[in-house]
Amino acid sequence: MSIQSDIAQIEEQEQEQVWSAMHNKLCKQAVQVHKFGGSSLASVECINRAVDIIQVNCKLDDVVVVSANGDTTDELLHIYELAVVQSDKLHHEISQVKDRQTKLISSLLKTVHAHSLIALLEHDIALLVKWLQVDINAHYSELLALGELWSARLLSAILNERVCPSNAIDARDFLVINNEEQCAVDYDLSQRQLALLREPSKLAVITGFVARNEQGLPCTLGRNGSDYSATILAALTAAQNVTLWTDVDGIYSADPRVVPNARKLHRVPRGVAKELGRLGNPVLHAKTLQPLNDCGSHLHVASSFDANTAGTEIGDFGQIAKQELSVTHLNDLLLAQSVSFLGDVGKQAAKEFSAIGVDVAKGQIVIQQSQQLAVSQWLASHDTEVRFTPVAIIAVVGHNVAQRGNVKVRFKRSLRAQQLIAILTSERQHSFIAVIPQPCTTELLNNVHHDVTKDARHIGLVIAGAGNIGQRFIELLPSQVAKVPALENLHLVGIASSKRILLNTDGLDVESSFEQFEQHSKSYQQDDLLNWLTHHPYDELVVVDITPSKAFSELYQPFFERGIHVIGANKWAASSSTANYNKLLQSAKEHDSLWLGNTTVGAGLPINFAIDDLIASGDEIEEISGIFSGTLSWLFENYDGQQPFDVLLKQALADGITEPDPRDDLSGLDVQRKLLILARLAGFELALEDIDCQNLVPASLQALSVEQFLDNAEQLNDYFEKQLAQAVQQKSCIRYVARFSNTKAGVKAKVSLETLPQTDAFASLTPCDNIFKIVSSWYQDNPLIIRGPGAGRDVTAGGLHSDLVNVCNQLAKKAHQVKLKGINE
Ligand code: ADP
Ligand code: ASP
Ligand code: MG
Repeated sequence: MSIQSDIAQIEEQEQEQVWSAMHNKLCKQAVQVHKFGGSSLASVECINRAVDIIQVNCKLDDVVVVSANGDTTDELLHIYELAVVQSDKLHHEISQVKDRQTKLISSLLKTVHAHSLIALLEHDIALLVKWLQVDINAHYSELLALGELWSARLLSAILNERVCPSNAIDARDFLVINNEEQCAVDYDLSQRQLALLREPSKLAVITGFVARNEQGLPCTLGRNGSDYSATILAALTAAQNVTLWTDVDGIYSADPRVVPNARKLHRVPRGVAKELGRLGNPVLHAKTLQPLNDCGSHLHVASSFDANTAGTEIGDFGQIAKQELSVTHLNDLLLAQSVSFLGDVGKQAAKEFSAIGVDVAKGQIVIQQSQQLAVSQWLASHDTEVRFTPVAIIAVVGHNVAQRGNVKVRFKRSLRAQQLIAILTSERQHSFIAVIPQPCTTELLNNVHHDVTKDARHIGLVIAGAGNIGQRFIELLPSQVAKVPALENLHLVGIASSKRILLNTDGLDVESSFEQFEQHSKSYQQDDLLNWLTHHPYDELVVVDITPSKAFSELYQPFFERGIHVIGANKWAASSSTANYNKLLQSAKEHDSLWLGNTTVGAGLPINFAIDDLIASGDEIEEISGIFSGTLSWLFENYDGQQPFDVLLKQALADGITEPDPRDDLSGLDVQRKLLILARLAGFELALEDIDCQNLVPASLQALSVEQFLDNAEQLNDYFEKQLAQAVQQKSCIRYVARFSNTKAGVKAKVSLETLPQTDAFASLTPCDNIFKIVSSWYQDNPLIIRGPGAGRDVTAGGLHSDLVNVCNQLAKKAHQVKLKGINE
């Protein structure tokens, strides 16, 4: 046996495995339609990518619909135009088209298969030359259909070679259009004819764009008509899903090639998608949605250049998707003005010609240039005059936008420098259409997009932690959203506690969110949360961590990896090991995630913020010291020896001033963590172990249960009595102080009980207050002091809101330019 035949046998077995895997998938799932647009089939690389997508995503009973490769339809149209004027460039253009096809065929297929396809191509070209010689107008549709024919033939041959058995089907052999003007499909006949052509063990690759009319003559579905072909096929095959694979990863708020600030719309309501198609968005041909009305197939747009990025879903969505706005335009239109277009007849004409816009009060309809003759003929029967003016339109599209007066105001304002013929509202209220006398410029599109959408970026908010402070944070949210402009595009989408979670992609009503959480939350599963966060439809997502949970802080890494921003009151992550902390910072930086934690130290007091700001401004911190624990502040401000320390401690516990286990305060660990967080913010690479910590709980009390500890708490008294007595002798007091210093001798950090003169800034605080003292290059002899409540429901929730506003402001300013694989990446 030769090596060659060995390889052949292995290849055959592998091929068999691929086919049988596809066979196994057969019938298990409903039919899927995959449509590849011309831009996804424009070159050898593009076609290879499409083949990979088919291999991964298709089963044998699925349907692949193709457009002509790249600009082939434009080239064929050009050939037609050259033929009409009998240009001497005609034959050169034909040979160019032929060469491009030949190159694709020979680069993508094995020689033996390439030969037969090239022979077919040559036959078609010979036919084309004959049509041009005889009567080009009679063969106009056949000429245009060549692009899709070649494309289907080639892709099917590649699939046969590399992926699975496949047959190319010419849609003209089954798809019948009843009414060419409206492109209405004869579904019964088309379905019966398609059934005869489909082979169950072969993946069908079907030509988009082309069909036959009732008389049996070839026709097309209009430019970009393959999108429509795809949804027609979904209706004919009862497909569950239609994917339009194109060169952008979704529908944007404007053409991303022209408007670099355009935002991807993750979910587009059906009505809006229909209107976008009608008004010229090339991603969706005007009729694309029509066949889906009855068949219920799901439609989405995805990028063949970046198959793993989630695209745009088209369907029925809630308020947030309905709020989105986009801008689209169409040039080369005509404004037809006639008294016949006044009133009901105008409405009838608009319907008859699927007019882009109509104003029956002024007797105006906006139509395609190609409809001029038909409109003139229609009016001739009414015996009235008509005046045609070349126009363009620029439109703002959004769900029920006609009811949103502020959008109209912004739209009008954005057009103030523009000569304007009219602003029309579409029949279904999903658009404002400005009719202008000149073609729409790039500058105009960008200006209108900027003014109308305000380049708004939608921010989703998930709140983790529904305890005391979490609830206050939620309570404050409605008034914050109403008051603070930076929160205009913020949407509360989730609330989680340690046990329950409520997520709503469409947003929770902020006024009643906590009640909704209590009534409708489900059991909390970390994986569900991460999964949702991986696929959320927001431009930005912020998680506010108001939990004390170490486990939740361990999610910051996956959050950052998903580009999610974190506001943490939780101290765990910021005081974790140096390696973990640095990794988190690095990850946040890499993924452009913001991480704010002003409330980790001193509740709402702007201490983290101040240190951050000094460092960012070029100052150098030499010392950070103070009283960082509200509980220890209260205890030592109130401890005057009149009553034993344990009695005071139990009173503090009863008043909710200490943790449920007061040893969590007395251990000093919380203060140690806070000092670590501030020292790190000041730019020092420190670990918790680098900070000496005096545990105020003697070893004998450390291992006991909380009850046992409280029963034996009088053991604490001796020590504090002695410390206080010594201090009083020196006209001093005792305070639990955190100190960090960076001197020539090196870095020192400790948290401990200190004796301080009564005149010291730390000596006389309002019980519970925190104080922070910073000595820096700029604040030398007269240090910076920040003092105030370092704990409490309102101030902590307020501090978290301050971080939220800060994050939203930064996100609003975040310069963003669309990055599209295959376009500018
Ligand atoms: P295909 O070749 O897949 O049929 P088209 O070229 O017809 O694709 O449509 C995709 C193109 O549509 C994109 O390259 C983009 O430039 C353009 N486009 C115009 N408006 C939009 C929009 N709002 N969102 C996305 N793409 C748009
Ligand atoms: N090839 C056709 C066109 O360029 C149809 C399509 O691509 O959807 O308009
Ligand atoms: Mg297209």
